[in-house]
Amino acid sequence: MVKEFFKPASVDEALDLLSVPGSLALAGGTWALAFEGRDKPERVVDIGKAVPRTIERRGSVLVVGAAVTFQELIESEAAPAVIKAAAQSMANRNTRNRATVGGNLGANKSCASLVPVLLALGATVEAKSRGKPAAVLPLADWLARPEGLVLAVSVPVTAGVRSSSLRSSRTACDIATGTAACACRLEGGKLTSLRIAVGGFGPHAALRPDLAALFEGKPLPAKADIEKAVLPLLSARADQRGSAEYKCLRGAALIADALHAVEELS
Ligand SMILES: Cc1cc2nc3c(=O)[nH]c(=O)nc-3n(C[C@H](O)[C@H](O)[C@H](O)COP(=O)(O)OP(=O)(O)OC[C@H]3O[C@@H](n4cnc5c(N)ncnc54)[C@H](O)[C@@H]3O)c2cc1C
Repeated sequence: MVKEFFKPASVDEALDLLSVPGSLALAGGTWALAFEGRDKPERVVDIGKAVPRTIERRGSVLVVGAAVTFQELIESEAAPAVIKAAAQSMANRNTRNRATVGGNLGANKSCASLVPVLLALGATVEAKSRGKPAAVLPLADWLARPEGLVLAVSVPVTAGVRSSSLRSSRTACDIATGTAACACRLEGGKLTSLRIAVGGFGPHAALRPDLAALFEGKPLPAKADIEKAVLPLLSARADQRGSAEYKCLRGAALIADALHAVEELS
């Protein structure tokens, strides 16, 4: 149960408040106050006023403040369609109205809606820890060792890069069984600079250079051939969403669909 609640106006004040053991940084609360977080936080620091809530293009880079909600991202003119599609895959509008980009990274769930596409596109984060200057680092590095608060996420929106983001679930409103995102170029009919990120095949969504290496520099294979090639490299945990075998078969098809769905960033 929450016993202490703070709403600081600056990131430094938020970091000071969060330095007290047992404190929780609260964004939209759709993970922190539900699921595993329920009943746990006693000292809550609402960071909604302390971290940026703007979405803008700076040249060919999309910069999204950590406090931006999924719904704001979907409605923004600055965000490319593939990022909007990933945000839209959070099926429940009530949740999208509250859930933030920073919270999606902080929760770092295996099937996090935004993480795979951000990883595939080579996003970086600006993060700040107490007593240190803000630092910019690859998203994958921050996710591997989350420290401090994410202030913003920057995504290169580079001409010629194609990308896709897909999710599978048993029903439209169900939790995902897997997610897959790709980014690549198509040069002379061949896939180059290919990055594939998947969720649902490990504790966190992750880039999979082993999967990308199967297709790098080659013409796009038929979907059945992609499925056959990636299936042996997938492993999943059986749970209420399905058996491990079902999830891997579905995941292989999802990756094949994602590779065939890549479209130029717009
Ligand atoms: C009904 C329902 C459906 C959901 N469906 C999906 C779904 O389809 N896809 C999906 O990805 N998730 C889903 N979730 C989980 C959750 O909504 C998302 O993970 C969401 O993005 C969390 O954002 P939030 O702003 O609510 O974060 P919070 O719950 O406030 O925080 C989540 C965690 O991130 C930390 N955090 C928050 N902001 C920052 C920051 N700026 N820097 C560092 N750490 C931070 C918090 O301390 C906490 O540990 C669902 C949740 C519910 C209740």
